[in-house]
Amino acid sequence: MSDSKIPPNCYICEKKTDVDKLYYCICDIAVCNNCINSVKRNENTWICPKCSNENNSSKSMLFRTT
Ligand SMILES: [Zn+2]
Ligand SMILES: [Zn+2]
Repeated sequence: MSDSKIPPNCYICEKKTDVDKLYYCICDIAVCNNCINSVKRNENTWICPKCSNENNSSKSMLFRTT
């Protein structure tokens, strides 16, 4: 296991989360599926807590850094 393959911890709760349950933003942070509810704007959109970018929920889950 190399460091680059380790998924980032959740930006909000800082817990280690399954890579499939993370939402990614272009600013290189990830939010877990528990915390995403607190930054969700509506069903399909969430606001990044770091850069305030508006992200599409389903699209942001497809972003993989690997
Ligand atoms: Zn979290
Ligand atoms: Zn962001």
